[in-house]
Amino acid sequence: MSIETLPSYLCGAWRGGAGEGTPIADAVTGATVTRVSSEGLDLAGAVAYARGTGLAGLGELTFPQRAAALKAVAQALQERKQELYDLSARAGATRRDAAVDVDGGIGTALVYASLGRKGLPDSTLIVEDDPVPLGKGGTFAGRHILTTPRGIALQINAFNFPVWGMLEKFAPALLAGVPTIVKPATPTAYIAAHAVRIIAESGALPPGAIQLVSGSIPGVFDLLGGQDHIGFTGSAATAARLRCDPAVTHRSARFNAEADSLNCSILGPDAVPGQPEFELFADALVTEMTVKAGQKCTAIRRALVTANLIDAVSQAVEARLAKVVVGAPGAPGVTMGALVGLAQREDVRAAAARLASAGTTVYGDPNSVDVVGADAERGAFLSPLLLRVDDPARPEPHEVEAFGPVSTLLPYRGVGDLLDTVARGEGSLAGSVVSYDGDFVREVVLGAAAHHGRILVLDRDSAGESTGHGTPMPQLVHGGPGRAGGGEEEGGLRAVHAHLQRTAIQGGPAVLEAITTIHEQRNVEGEQR
Ligand code: NAP
Repeated sequence: MSIETLPSYLCGAWRGGAGEGTPIADAVTGATVTRVSSEGLDLAGAVAYARGTGLAGLGELTFPQRAAALKAVAQALQERKQELYDLSARAGATRRDAAVDVDGGIGTALVYASLGRKGLPDSTLIVEDDPVPLGKGGTFAGRHILTTPRGIALQINAFNFPVWGMLEKFAPALLAGVPTIVKPATPTAYIAAHAVRIIAESGALPPGAIQLVSGSIPGVFDLLGGQDHIGFTGSAATAARLRCDPAVTHRSARFNAEADSLNCSILGPDAVPGQPEFELFADALVTEMTVKAGQKCTAIRRALVTANLIDAVSQAVEARLAKVVVGAPGAPGVTMGALVGLAQREDVRAAAARLASAGTTVYGDPNSVDVVGADAERGAFLSPLLLRVDDPARPEPHEVEAFGPVSTLLPYRGVGDLLDTVARGEGSLAGSVVSYDGDFVREVVLGAAAHHGRILVLDRDSAGESTGHGTPMPQLVHGGPGRAGGGEEEGGLRAVHAHLQRTAIQGGPAVLEAITTIHEQRNVEGEQR
């Protein structure tokens, strides 16, 4: 039976690419799910449609009206999320994994809808701050305004979060009035495409507000420039390639990269066995290794513990990993699903071998795992792998990202040594400090902050409500310096502002008043409604 090509949503219609396309295998059974091709599609037409129809339609809506549209999008996805769970299972995701992606994405969209409704004016213009006097006589001043660029938001996503990754970029772009073209990663494009189908069928958005290309996007960067925003998530290697495109280097398209990183979690010296923080650390490490089979950009790759605790931590984590049941999503007892595909499994095995060359594998066998409800070789299953490297000066744990259920234990001796080790990751999305010692926590957080986009402090008091090491929150910044891409996404309305053009307007007070008054009157009306 021939498998149809996954269509793209362009210019308001679903269109199939030509040719054979790239076959996408079910992560659990190996059967072909779909084929992905953008061959022959009019991608230049899609960019023009976004710039014309999309921009015009969104420009008709004020910020709160866009927030209402976003809320309707989230509600439509909420009503049909089972369809997305079912497709996610084909990519190896358990129900818990799918919730991170699907519910996480819907929740993120709802948070942005709320921020847009409450925090943005009933206008298409934002006026920042108060007027800044620029002359002694009071006849000349300045003020900043934020307006919608005449461009598009191109989002290029990683395979591991087809729904969340799309919505966390789409929500701020929509609020900013910028039309989006989604380019999902090929291995999970069918999940992103289905989410866009649900969005399109909801009728919540003006035409051209969202489009999706299944497959590659040849020529699209040639059409982008200073009015456009490129939001990339994926590997550091791809980020480096795209960052060098003339669209970015010559025409100054905005480019935000979220790349891989070797995130650390630090156990404080106070957290000896028997202390709640010891258990919290071991639990969090196992959670981060196994949710989405470790295919999370924020997962803990380096677990740093004082040298005298490394044996005890290793035993506690091994005992927890022994309870992990690997297998088909939905099969009885399964707690960890498959990697996205066999090629990904080979990549992870190769990376784990490089890590193991610097130390030892203390739990798991990269070439063998008991699998429930599926064939261990046809599906992309892998055992969780806990490694231990006793020499933190070895480069491998700080350079090699095994994008799967893999983490490495490393010892430290004192805070200075710890901070040096943390810095060797050269920039991370997320770190965590698990300790009940306030002085230690303060010294480590302030010493490590420059290398991180986000740091979670976990202790007995906050654990009950803590959102965990690996979960970016839409209200807070997601991104990280250096290797993590140097970008900044989310962070509440900061992400909306990042899609707008800030312009300093200078002139007499009356002129400035005239430019901003319409906005402020509308704002007052909006508050009265
Ligand atoms: P990837 O291979 O770098 O691909 C990322 C995206 O870039 C995919 O959509 C890919 O499309 C696209 N792409 C590749 N070459 C391109 C080109 N020349 N022009 C336009 N698009 C291009 O990464 P991945 O394997 O999907 O994802 C895993 C990596 O992402 C991991 O390293 C992980 O750490 C990182 N990640 C980071 C974050 C974060 O928030 N920082 C989140 C998730 C994942 P195709 O699939 O069609 O090739």
